[in-house]
Amino acid sequence: MICLKDMKRIVVKVGTSTLTYENGKTNIKRMRELVRTICDFSNFGLEVALVTSGAIGIGVGKLGLCERPKDTPSRQAAACVGQCELMFMYDKFFQEYGNTVGQLLITKSDIEDKERGANLINAFEKIFLYGAIPIINENDSVAVEEIVYGDNDNLSAHVARLIAADLLIILTDTDGLFDKNPHTEEDAVLIPVVNEIDGSVFEIAEGKGSSRGTGGMFTKIQAAKLAGENGIPTIIMNGENPEDMYRLMEGRQVGTLFTV
Ligand code: GLU
Repeated sequence: MICLKDMKRIVVKVGTSTLTYENGKTNIKRMRELVRTICDFSNFGLEVALVTSGAIGIGVGKLGLCERPKDTPSRQAAACVGQCELMFMYDKFFQEYGNTVGQLLITKSDIEDKERGANLINAFEKIFLYGAIPIINENDSVAVEEIVYGDNDNLSAHVARLIAADLLIILTDTDGLFDKNPHTEEDAVLIPVVNEIDGSVFEIAEGKGSSRGTGGMFTKIQAAKLAGENGIPTIIMNGENPEDMYRLMEGRQVGTLFTV
């Protein structure tokens, strides 16, 4: 059983489809709820790292583009614009609830290079020591195709590993992992616990995510697998009402838990 009260450090990952409307504009209510919940967890004594997507999606909305660009320079440009807006909003909301945030824009090579990885860990530890909340995204404005994770699900698992988190929470637009695609199959049933991530789990998770984000369930399962290999359980749950994370404070079941 997972209970946040017994934990010290967690990673929360939130995706573009949770943070924005279809038109790419920020879902302010949801973002505020997410921030308020994280601030409350932080006041309780939990160290929380927030891995957030949304830079490209919000940039697309702000630049008035009709869809998420397919070519790298356009995506980089959208990310430049959107990341500013994203952090402006986070900074404002976290400040309202009395918390300070720090931005970490990471590329794959920062994590894979031993020395840079170690530097990153030092930075994280200092941010936590100072009582601030690290907000992480992939550095999409400089990362090009060959060297990107491309999805923040895998990035969030790497962050969880780097900071030795006790739990990874992935917020998404479904209630968790279903035995079939819940967007298309009415009789899809939620799987509450997965004890082993094998080929069959990946099979039911196949498919793309929303048109505004990347990923989908497949990359979330990859993330859960990577986290699990590092002794970190993962919960995939709906981000529609971020306050549902409070249920984890009381050890109640929510979403799909991937045990270790
Ligand atoms: N890093 C991308 C962004 O901020 C999103 C990647 C993803 O959707 O997982 O837009």
